[in-house]
Amino acid sequence: MVKESAFYDTLGVKPTATAEQIRKAYRRLALKYHPDKNPAEGERFKLIAQAYEVLSDPKKRELYDQGGEQAIKGGGGGVGGFSSPMDIFDMFFGGGGRIQREKRGKDVVHQLAVSLEDIYNGATRKLALKKNVICDKCDGCGGKKGSVEKCPNCKGRGIEIHIQQIGLGMVQQIQTMCSECHGQCEHIDPKDRCKNCNGRKIMKERKILEVHIDKGMQDGQKITFRGEGDQEPGLDPGDVVIVLDQKDHDLFRRHGNNLIMKMEILLVEALCGFKRTVITLDKRTLLITSKPGDVMRVGNFKSVLNEGLPIYRDPFEKGQLMIQFSVKFPPYGWIPAQNLTELEDLLPPRQKVAITADMEQVELTECLLEEQRKAYCGEAYKEDQKPRGGVQCQTS
Ligand SMILES: [Zn+2]
Ligand SMILES: [Zn+2]
Repeated sequence: MVKESAFYDTLGVKPTATAEQIRKAYRRLALKYHPDKNPAEGERFKLIAQAYEVLSDPKKRELYDQGGEQAIKGGGGGVGGFSSPMDIFDMFFGGGGRIQREKRGKDVVHQLAVSLEDIYNGATRKLALKKNVICDKCDGCGGKKGSVEKCPNCKGRGIEIHIQQIGLGMVQQIQTMCSECHGQCEHIDPKDRCKNCNGRKIMKERKILEVHIDKGMQDGQKITFRGEGDQEPGLDPGDVVIVLDQKDHDLFRRHGNNLIMKMEILLVEALCGFKRTVITLDKRTLLITSKPGDVMRVGNFKSVLNEGLPIYRDPFEKGQLMIQFSVKFPPYGWIPAQNLTELEDLLPPRQKVAITADMEQVELTECLLEEQRKAYCGEAYKEDQKPRGGVQCQTS
């Protein structure tokens, strides 16, 4: 049991979630609520980062499970406690270092849902995005050559300083963004302004990217389009980063390059052999046959070699298809009692028990839920006020 579950709730996972599930939940939510895509959800983005910061660190997670958020804030001794949500995001999605980033525009990260079929067969997806490009009419100047001058209002600083009298002889300095140039630090005479971009230097452009999903790619793998991010005058454009989000499949579960599936067979098939078909991710039909005399036990794993996922960059090699068996037993009363001996003769002999006089014979019943058990015991006591011999209900 955990003391609080708020961080788990924020990420939409159970307190029993694996590290992988937590990673995946963060990845999905951080992209969804990133301020670039959802400017109104800044607070939520922050909470998601905080929850991930704690739950992704085994030590912090343990501390949180035992003592809640209070333990995290008090335990580390650090001031503030949490890293900036943007740092967490950059660390997770592998953004470049700070110094390098100053000369580069931001990277744009998109998540792309892919099916197991896409990963098995490979696929190409077209992704349409809107991006800022430098205006080609004015080459990002915003106006005619020589028409761009320092903003006379703020002298090129982008800010205005107001002096405000707040009491006798007391003044306060207030800084605001320059109202003339809106922080652009430049002034262009309206008549010289570039007609194409209206002096904004950049234009919105729709761009189609072709994303190649190679066979065997991993969930969470990044595909980077260098320099396809937003353009901004004076900066190298950032990258567009596509993060693959592998969707669950109805039949197969992925484990590395192996595929795992469950198969329920009948008791007769478990004992006497079976034939079953499986449709593969490239729509072939496999006929799965057991060897005569091979007994399938509940939970047994068997493999079909080379029917797993292709190995990334070596797609002729494949993992295994692992099948976990379960056995469906026949229902109650499926065979007339007199036939049971016939069946028994065919089966391996049963275990013999030497019965002695001091043994207590008890009956098996269906298991009762705790409430049912209490009700059952209560009734038994009411009937004859004292516990009966044999079965006794213990109240804890
Ligand atoms: Zn100005
Ligand atoms: Zn222009």
